[in-house]
Amino acid sequence: MTDTGTHRRTPPATFTSRDPATGRPLAEHPVHGPQDVARAVERGRAAGARWAALPAARRRAHLLSWKRLLASELDAVAASVAAETGKPLRDAELELVLTLEHLSWAARNAGRVLRGRRVRTGLPAANQSASVVHRPLGVVGVIGPWNYPVYTPMGSIGYALAAGNAVVFKPSEYTPGTGVLLARLFETAVPGFTGLFTVVTGAAGTGAALAASGVDKLAFTGSPGTARKVMEVCARSLTPFLAECGGKDAVLVTADADLDAAADAIVWGALGNAGQTCAGVERVYAVRAVHARLCDRVVERARALRPGTGPDAAYGPLTMPGQGDVVRRHVEAALTAGAGAPLGGTDARHGGADAPGAADPAGGPFVAPVVLVDVPEDCPAMTEETFGPTVSINAVADVDEAVRRANASRYALGAAVFCGSRRQGAAIASRLRAGAVSVNSVLGFAAVPALPFGGSGDSGFGRVHGAEGLRAFTAPQSVTVRRFAPPVDLTSFATPAAAKARAVALTRWLHTRR
Ligand code: NAD
Repeated sequence: MTDTGTHRRTPPATFTSRDPATGRPLAEHPVHGPQDVARAVERGRAAGARWAALPAARRRAHLLSWKRLLASELDAVAASVAAETGKPLRDAELELVLTLEHLSWAARNAGRVLRGRRVRTGLPAANQSASVVHRPLGVVGVIGPWNYPVYTPMGSIGYALAAGNAVVFKPSEYTPGTGVLLARLFETAVPGFTGLFTVVTGAAGTGAALAASGVDKLAFTGSPGTARKVMEVCARSLTPFLAECGGKDAVLVTADADLDAAADAIVWGALGNAGQTCAGVERVYAVRAVHARLCDRVVERARALRPGTGPDAAYGPLTMPGQGDVVRRHVEAALTAGAGAPLGGTDARHGGADAPGAADPAGGPFVAPVVLVDVPEDCPAMTEETFGPTVSINAVADVDEAVRRANASRYALGAAVFCGSRRQGAAIASRLRAGAVSVNSVLGFAAVPALPFGGSGDSGFGRVHGAEGLRAFTAPQSVTVRRFAPPVDLTSFATPAAAKARAVALTRWLHTRR
């Protein structure tokens, strides 16, 4: 195995997770290789067979026990998320709140969504009854990111388990402890199913081993570049693949929008979690009549926010060490191309005395808010995922131009519309190339478990959450049951040719009449 772990160059037996604000070591975790992964998949297969054989109501009861334990251990899980990502504790708590809603929905609705249903047979098969049932796939591999280390992978883990599968989960190498904690709480809440939900830890090599392990589906969340690599591995064994990747989400603001509400939501959607949100706000298109007033309101609110640690910090550090360079490159390229920066700019890195990273020779992992305006559309700040606390606000002539520009991205994950009329907002939403759209809020869809979530283009494909997210971890099985002999049996050599010809003539007549 060629896993490099997080912080060492030679293949280690363990790797160290760290506090991203200070670099302080948090814990050592094993680097699991192909053999460990194979064992986890094998155990999952055995436990999964028993899990799949349970009545849906029993699975629901077990998953709701897990949900209750997660709720009672919310403080411990949120503390783990905060320690590993650096995000403020209250943001980690919000992540848990959303996760509990989703797990509850998946547990309660899997039986209803996936139960067998009768379908009509049509004339040639009128002697049959027909039904379709959604059967679990077996073992689902889940590879997760670090930015929402509970909410995001649980969109696959919770729904895959609810659909009757076993799960082997490889959390991000930045957040392994949170993954291990999730599995430990599962084992406590659901005794007797050892191996049903296992966590393997490590970096790219462990993820690649999971993709190559023969799991029955691989649900990946991360960047599109990694998705391509993982998909290539899956392609070798035709392992089905689900890709939840990055975004470059746009907010459209019409002339009659409530600008205070829009500014408030844009600031939260762009700067919350230090901008490290797949469906966070990265681009804003405001009609020219309100552009300046919107910018003023955004700048006023963003200026008041301080990155850092502790209860007063609006958001934490950039979690990944190299991300500050990406943010700086995007901001500098925009400024060089003629963009304005009413807030922040080339000195985007925060060097305040209370920012622990300020002492870091690279400038520290804290980035103060950056608001850019009039950014040329071909700048990386408009075309690439920035994943930092920045937002670009451009003026457009009208809604048509806003829609055109919003849709001109290679990403298509989420979007938002701020508009005086809810009906017009919904009409604009229907013109947007995005997997999920919020009208008069941002990320409104994330808190509604019944809504499927996912994107297209570089944002990936497939859906998690909702009924579609349950079905994503099943295979439909179609069953026909012959009830009586048909008048003309088209699937028998014994049927006279003349009878078959009459059946063809009847069918032709039926399908040619108006
Ligand atoms: P990443 O692509 O660097 O890593 C994602 C996961 O893939 C990690 O667990 C990593 O260890 C693993 N990995 C890396 N190389 C691999 C390989 N060759 N084979 C197998 N596994 C490999 O992404 P990240 O930095 O952890 O997460 C940030 C990205 O995730 C952003 O692009 C963000 O937009 C996206 N994201 C998307 C969603 C969504 O639901 N669409 C949600 C959260 C984050």
